[in-house]
Amino acid sequence: MKTKTLILILLITLVVGGCKDSSKDSTKDLNKDSTNKTINEPIDNASKNSIKSEGLKLDYSKGYESKAKVQFKRLEAMKSFYKKAKNLDLKVHVELLDKEEWTKKYKDVPYGMPFVMLEETPTVVLPATEDGIIVKNALVYKDNVPSDIKKTLSEIGFTYEEAVKLFPDLIGLHEVGHSLTVENGNTNLNSWFNEFMATYYAYAYLVKEEPKYAKLWKANASITYLDGSKPKYTALKDFDEKYSQIQPDNYDWYQKQFTLLAVRVYDSMGLDFIDKVKDVFKDDVVDSDETFNKLHTISPIFDQWASEMKNKFK
Ligand SMILES: [Zn+2]
Repeated sequence: MKTKTLILILLITLVVGGCKDSSKDSTKDLNKDSTNKTINEPIDNASKNSIKSEGLKLDYSKGYESKAKVQFKRLEAMKSFYKKAKNLDLKVHVELLDKEEWTKKYKDVPYGMPFVMLEETPTVVLPATEDGIIVKNALVYKDNVPSDIKKTLSEIGFTYEEAVKLFPDLIGLHEVGHSLTVENGNTNLNSWFNEFMATYYAYAYLVKEEPKYAKLWKANASITYLDGSKPKYTALKDFDEKYSQIQPDNYDWYQKQFTLLAVRVYDSMGLDFIDKVKDVFKDDVVDSDETFNKLHTISPIFDQWASEMKNKFK
């Protein structure tokens, strides 16, 4: 996570073939790009298409005021939630862009794949329309969605298609979660745990404030590889060390494992977990082994989960 970083997405994608996200790395990659002129040019007429309040700013492409208002309301709710619950002061800038503006500013990022650039004030970039890469890729497999998943989505109140179209917005909350991770003083987490924490912040907020979407997020995490294939990489070590080699659908699989873990940890510890991480990790730079040593002192769930991950494809 880093400055001008793009943390592309996360989770959510019901089979996203195509959206490699991620935080750290994309972040790294895009970090390099941040020196490129294609990034960070001001949005045309941004002053006319902007909503602000203390610490928050949302710029949007012309014609998307309604969606911008919905997004901004959610940002304010998340800021207020973490201020009250953990005294964290969320500062974030969001750009809600249509395809034309996105392509002009961020030509190296596929349209529709949310990402964050972690600079002094983090910038989260979201698509304004529903025809981006994540939604498109997820809809390819709509006929392969298992009936039990369809039933779960239906019980929550969504068709698969409706759920898919919400994913970019929800992924945006994961990106905001990266900002909160830094705000909480955890600036040097290893890759997989950094992704996990971003999801934890987003999920914990949703459980309390928008439970319907928390259920949707959880349900989505069970949907992977609808084409019947299997992930090439499943080890956490690979996630940390072979990031650039991990394909989008495999990346999506990892993110969904982190989501399922977040649900378990949240069910066990709730928001107290955030305090423990603040205390135990502080600003140390740790590798995955050391991360587990530290997590071992917080909850037995992590050791159990690591063991399950190892045996998943044996
Ligand atoms: Zn991320």
